[in-house]
Amino acid sequence: MPEPQSPRARRVYLETYGCQMNVADSQTVTTVLLNAGYGTASRPEDADVILLNTCAIRDHAEERVLKRLGDLAHLKRARPKLKLGLLGCMAQHNRSAILQNASCLDLVAGPDSYRRLPELIEHASFDPAIDVRLDRSETYADISAAHSGGVRAYVTVMRGCDRFCAFCVVPYVRGRERSLNPQSLMREIRALAAQGVREIVLLGQTVNAYRHCEIDFGSLLRMAAQVDGVERIRFTSPHPSDMSDSIIEAIASEPKVMPQIHLPVQSGSDRMLAAMDRGYTVAEYLALVDRVRRAISGVALSTDIIVGFHGEDDRDFEATLDLMRTVGYDSAFSFKYSVREHTRAFKLGDSVSETVKGARLQAVIALQEEIALRRNRALVGDVFPVLIEGPARRGGGMMAGKTPQFKTAIFPAREDAALGTTLPFRVESVTAHSLMGSLA
Ligand code: SF4
Repeated sequence: MPEPQSPRARRVYLETYGCQMNVADSQTVTTVLLNAGYGTASRPEDADVILLNTCAIRDHAEERVLKRLGDLAHLKRARPKLKLGLLGCMAQHNRSAILQNASCLDLVAGPDSYRRLPELIEHASFDPAIDVRLDRSETYADISAAHSGGVRAYVTVMRGCDRFCAFCVVPYVRGRERSLNPQSLMREIRALAAQGVREIVLLGQTVNAYRHCEIDFGSLLRMAAQVDGVERIRFTSPHPSDMSDSIIEAIASEPKVMPQIHLPVQSGSDRMLAAMDRGYTVAEYLALVDRVRRAISGVALSTDIIVGFHGEDDRDFEATLDLMRTVGYDSAFSFKYSVREHTRAFKLGDSVSETVKGARLQAVIALQEEIALRRNRALVGDVFPVLIEGPARRGGGMMAGKTPQFKTAIFPAREDAALGTTLPFRVESVTAHSLMGSLA
């Protein structure tokens, strides 16, 4: 984050939890506050205002934030003028419980209230300030989010969700779907390319439901691919039911749109998919996987899986493992079901014990490791163009980058391997999570 603009500017420290949408929202919040004359602080101890941008998707995420608020309350006791605020999905989801349990809070703002943050912070000097109204028209389209550096940037193209899956709080905390104007999105992507960004990730809660007048998500991908300077385009997270032929064709035919799709399945049991209100059956999902694999050569598929949804029995769970074996995902994010207040599934209950959920989660993780390792082993000897991102986490003079399929490539540094360049990389050995080799 840039340094404060004047010695008198009040400084804001912002901490982000949860998904990539929240990371992108935090960049919007930063822009709003910088435009209002605030500076930024890199440590809570140096800040006049501390904001936590939160996630409500699972109980565990909320517990982490409450614990963090407890730590920050000490700072506030030592410096009573410090303002402490909660932003994001948790602020929207649980505001009354939070206000009761966290008396240190001065400010609570939901995801559609960030434009008013300077005003809310001012107001919080007198009284606690709360704004959690959902606004069907708020898209922040006119606010170019601050880019935090690096070769990749995230661009929010739509907000909210209309699907109301039984387990999910998103439609309640982020409101209904609204898509941003494609012209302003292209302006933002051009500006990012001019700052040296090479890869754009289009974001939305159900990103492939994007529609603005005649422009659907397939057309938006093609428009983004026309922007000079942008080499790679990805998107997350799509819903399987919105994966139209227009989108599949755009990925298949536009070389800049990368062959990588996240297709959240959640369960391999038709009974569970119906209880979750996911809107597709296993057969329909597998037919989609087949269409995608026929159309897009070398495509990588990843997914989300929930274990232990209310009513899931051993047969349902075995069906999920079967589906994982059938599809052969390159990676999977798996979670134990966490009951969320206000969702439709809240009334159903939580019939699967924590012990069973834990054992099922371990089984999913173990199977996915096996599948990913097998898929990666088949790539030994292949050459991929790798976009170089910088030093590898493991250090030791190694560099890291991504293949078109978003697999991590690790290789010894070389003089011509500058950040943001794309060079051919040969796979020599693999783990379930990365490819090791050398620049070819
Ligand atoms: S599609 Fe379902 S799981 Fe995804 S954000 Fe919408 S309601 Fe939640």
